[in-house]
This record gives sequence, C-alpha cells and structure tokens, in this order.
Amino acid sequence: DSRAADRTVDSVCPYCGVGCQLTYHIKDEKILFVEGRDGPSNQGRLCVKGRFGFDYPYHPARLSRPLIRRPGVPKGLDPDFDPRHPLTHFREASWDEALDLAADGLKAIKSAQGPDGLAGFGSAKCSNEEAWLFQKLVRTSFGSNHVDHCTRLCHASSVAALMECIGSGAVTASFMQALQADVVILTGCNPAINHPVAATYFKQAARNGTKLIILDPRGQALDAYAHRSVRFTPGGDVSLYNAMLNVIVSEGLFDQAYIDAHTEGFEALKSHVRELTPEAMSPACGVAPEQIRELARLYASADKAMIFWGMGISQHVHGTDNARCLISLALACGHTGRPGTGLHPLRGQNNVQGASDAGMIPMVLPDYQPVTDAQVRAAFEELWNTPLDATPGLTVVEIMDAIAAGTIKGMYILGENPAMSDPDLDHARAALASLEHLVVQDLFVTETAQFADVILPASAWPEKDGSVTNTNRQVQLGRAAVPLPGEAKPDWWIIQQIATRLGLDWGYTHPREVFAEMKQVMASLDHITWERLERESSVTYPCPAEDAPGADVVFSDTFPTSSGRATFTPTRPLPPDEPVDGDFPTVLITGRQLEHWHTGSMTRRSRVLDDLEPEPVASLAPAELVRLRLTPGEPITITTRRGDITLKARVDPLMAEGMVFVPFCYVEAAANLLTNPALDPDGKIPEFKYAACRLQRA
Ligand code: SF4
Repeated sequence: DSRAADRTVDSVCPYCGVGCQLTYHIKDEKILFVEGRDGPSNQGRLCVKGRFGFDYPYHPARLSRPLIRRPGVPKGLDPDFDPRHPLTHFREASWDEALDLAADGLKAIKSAQGPDGLAGFGSAKCSNEEAWLFQKLVRTSFGSNHVDHCTRLCHASSVAALMECIGSGAVTASFMQALQADVVILTGCNPAINHPVAATYFKQAARNGTKLIILDPRGQALDAYAHRSVRFTPGGDVSLYNAMLNVIVSEGLFDQAYIDAHTEGFEALKSHVRELTPEAMSPACGVAPEQIRELARLYASADKAMIFWGMGISQHVHGTDNARCLISLALACGHTGRPGTGLHPLRGQNNVQGASDAGMIPMVLPDYQPVTDAQVRAAFEELWNTPLDATPGLTVVEIMDAIAAGTIKGMYILGENPAMSDPDLDHARAALASLEHLVVQDLFVTETAQFADVILPASAWPEKDGSVTNTNRQVQLGRAAVPLPGEAKPDWWIIQQIATRLGLDWGYTHPREVFAEMKQVMASLDHITWERLERESSVTYPCPAEDAPGADVVFSDTFPTSSGRATFTPTRPLPPDEPVDGDFPTVLITGRQLEHWHTGSMTRRSRVLDDLEPEPVASLAPAELVRLRLTPGEPITITTRRGDITLKARVDPLMAEGMVFVPFCYVEAAANLLTNPALDPDGKIPEFKYAACRLQRA
C-alpha cells in the first residue's frame, strides 16, 4: 500500500545485468515494497526478482556483528550448522578485534610466503567503487594480481574474444536496439529466465516484425515469438556457426565494402571455412544442412541484424571460439556499428560489467589495461604511489588449484560464494578448508563463510551508495535507502579498514571520492561524474560530453584496436572436454532459475521467491521420465565422475532427450558437485554447460 510508505528512494535492482531502475517505498526505515521506475533499460518494468526480492536484508540470518571462528571448530559445511544461530561455531567480536585478526593473518602469510601466498575474490555484487578498492587493495597491498570474481564463471570467454577481435569487451549496442533490427539471433541464452525484462523487448521486437532466431540445445519461453527456433546438439555450437560462415562465404552473402573498410583477416577466414560445409558440420551440431543454409541467409541478407548470446555459449572449453564465431558472423555481414545491428553478450549480474571495468580481473588493470604493459603500470603506480606486479594473476579456478597445491594460503573473499559457485565443489571446498587464513565479508554466514576464520558483516544493496554498470554500458546510481542493521558496515569502509591495517593510507570518506579517483585513469568514465549520476541516475559510456547522452551503438567508424580494424579469428570445432559415453550417457547442464539468483544467498532468503521455488529440481524431457519410470516429483540421482546429488525430477517439455538441467543455487543438492572444472584455454572459464552424467531412480 503506497499510502503507508513515509518516503521513497530511487535505486537499481541488485540482480541481473539488465539493470532495471526501481523505487524503494519505505516505512519506519524498512522497505515495504518496490516499484519499477522509468529507467533506460526497463521503462517501469520489473521481473519477479526485482519486485519481490527486496526483503533478504531482514532475514533472521542477517549478520550484524563481526564473527570469529571458535577454537577447535573444523572449517567446512557442517549439516548441523544453522546460519541463523552462528554462535555455535563462531563468537562475536568487536570490529577492532575482527579487523586486526583479519589483517594480521593476511600479513603473516605475506611475510612467510611472499605476495603469491595471498589472493582475493571480489564479486559482481560489488559496486564499481567497491570493486575498484578491492582490486587496488590486492594489487598494492598483497602485491600480486591474484584478484578475480564471478566474471570468470560467466562471460570471461566472451570478453577474451571481443578484446581480441574488436578491441573492447563490452557490448557494441544496447538490447533496446533489437527494436530496430530486422533479424535478431538469440543463442545460448534464455532471456525470459535470466534477463526477464530484456526478454520483454525481444517480444516487443517480434510483435513489430523483427525475425527472432533462437539457437539453443534447450527450448524456451521465447520460442513462441520466434521466426525460427533451432535446437542444436550440446557442444555443437562452433560447428553450427562455422557452417553458417561457410554458407555466407560460398554464397557470396558477405558485405565486401564493410569488410574492406573495417576489418582484416577475412581472406584467411574464407579459406578456413571452405571445408566446414553444412553437410560436414551437420552431424556434430545436429542441424540439417538446408536449415543451416536458411539461418545463414536470413542473418546475412537482413539490412540490420543483432546477435545476443549468454552462458550457453561462454561456459564451454570452446567458449572463446564460440564468441569468435559470432563476431565473425557480424563482421562478415557488416552487422555492427549501425542502429539495429551489433554484438551483445548478455551480462549476467547487475555489475559484472562494472566490476570488470573497474579491474577486478587478474590480467588487466581497470579499463582492461594489461598489467604486462609498463606504460600502463606506470600510470597506476603514479596514481597509487606503489610499484605494481607485472605478472598476470591467477583466475578463479586456478586460485583454487593453487590453494590445493599449497601455494596460496590466505584469502580475502568479498561477496563471492565459491563453496557453491565453483565447478567440482568437493575439490573447491577441500581447498577452502585447507587455507591457513580466510576472511569473508558478506551479509550472511554463506556456505563459503562456513570456511572462514573471520566474517565481516557487510552492507546489502539498499543500504549503500554506489554506481553499477549494466549490460548496456549504462552506469547507474544506487542509493542508500535504509539503515544498516546493528554494527554492519558499508563495504568500502571495511575494505579501507583492512587496507589501513595492511599499511596503506587511503582516507576515503564516501564512494564519490573513489569514483573521482577511478576517472583519473578510466577513459570509459569520461564525462560521467558522480554529480551527473545523482542528477540523471544513468549515463551510457562512452559519453562524448557532459551534456551529451552516451553512445547506445559504438564502432561505426573505427574499432579500438591498434589498426582501427576488427579481426576475424578462425576457429576449429572441438568436442566437449568430457563427451557422453556408455557409463555417463546424459548431458548435464547447469544454470539459473527465474526466481533465484546465482548461489541463492539473497533470493533463497527472500520470502516470496523462496516460496515460489523452495527446493532443488532436475528438469527432464517427458520421454526421459518415461524411460526412467519416474513420475514428476519422485527423486532422481545424478552422478558424474566427480560426485552425485539426489533431487526431485520435474517434467519439462522444453528439454530434449539425453540431457538434464539443474539450477546451482541449492546447497542441499549442489549442482556444482557434479560440474567439470576443465577450462577454456583463453577465457579460463569452466565447462558448466556440459558434463557427462548418469541418471537413476533414487
Ligand atoms: Fe532485476 Fe534483472 Fe529482473 Fe530487471 S530483469 S528486475 S534487473 S532481475
């Protein structure tokens, strides 16, 4: 009831990369309800998470005081541990005691092991300013580049390909541009589940005559709006895209004028794809040659066309090759740089774009400036008055391996939940348990915090000021709406307290000062000031002037590469790392549900969302249930080479036979106990979208 609210505060949704703007309605310093606001990416719309996922800060398990592990309590997931009553395993501490212990442990490891003994995981839940401070802390205090976050599990391969081929890791056009496109390809993404408000624009585009082409191993709700919906064999994506490139080359459907003006390497691509005909690729991708030809012709002959992709593309050992293929398709047909054209990896979390821009990545400093470049380092060394390591750091899964190998002995984890999100969880959890010192900063005693020596109670999104950058490159301002509970603190304050104890002299008093520092070395933020964000709430980068809107579509003249041209990178189809076989004949795919966000730390503590999807389920095609003699709701055991879980079977007509889908947010049947840690060699992203498994009635 809006009449009951005594004030409102405008902010941004904390969940997906769409970045919907919203208004908190507040009474007695508590959020009563949320309404959509007229933001550039949502125009008043919200999905179920944005509308109902606001009450997690008030969950009884919310931390309000620092905690320290009690002596003798083993690290790890104890089935008897109740996060609402953490004092069985931890004791409360003052901020000074907890911060001193946190910093002393990190210092001791650094002096015994050197900089390589420590690492940090931030999170895409961090604001831009928190991400900046966290990577700055690791680089200037730990003394290494061992800092990473969940982008590594999300679009690292897409970013690697985009950086290589077009010189920029961000989207070339917003998803609103789909409304102007003649053809839109959605591949390896399921926007109605993972980017629900973006999906409403795809539906709107389809209603207006845009031809939606959906390419995916699974069916989805948007199929009802699609001109063509084509299901390919899991892992057959590189084959399918190369066959489409073959058709475009062999039928002369490419845009020679665009290629001559803006690209290099097309002749090599042409000869490379010559033998990758639809007939040759069809067995691997499971799509008929004539259908491949039709898809290629539809895309290439459109005046304006866009490609959107998601983690079905990126989370493979060939994830970077997948993105290289999609980039080649767009470049060959001249489908970038104009309204209604572009390449758009749908970024997952509300600030995965911004946290990456702000440098929470091991191989690059902010704005993707390589740590190996002496000139780049010199600029940051001058700004931070500290020498910087020239060696790229380790990535998420590599850090877990380094812990298991005994190299890394201490970690600071901010908002990330690797005890649920990493592949091959038995390995990851054993690594976390073996750490000599683990500091976790979070809202709850998450699964990862159950391995911690010190837990620092952090701020929830509605309790703090900060900027975030959505999938459309829109930098938006989140505003503190309600007070922090108990002794919980803003995250920037906690990071600074650790920094002070590690010998750094920072002295920030508000995130706006951090943003001002970022602007000194991040050209992406040119003409975007904190004051402007306060005034306008959202500004797109790159932005040409303080009184101009940012660029919705980029790279119309030139690409940000050394030659100003984009590059075609040929790829060869590769099999999945762990193909199905007689022992493990079914493909396991993991991902998200509409109602739950990533590892569920927030949404499973939101009442409505938890009521809507309260327990783990495995989605199977109707024929699979018949084959297994299961009725929906009966338990099923899924086994891979790494472990097994048991959960309820759900019938899902959108699934194909030979595959099973499991969401990864349920600790009681943690999907990542099953997943394969094999990495893409370029993006270093694990193959979450393909593991060979066996299904049995439980
Ligand atoms: Fe939030 Fe994404 Fe839903 Fe928008 S679409 S309300 S940003 S979860």
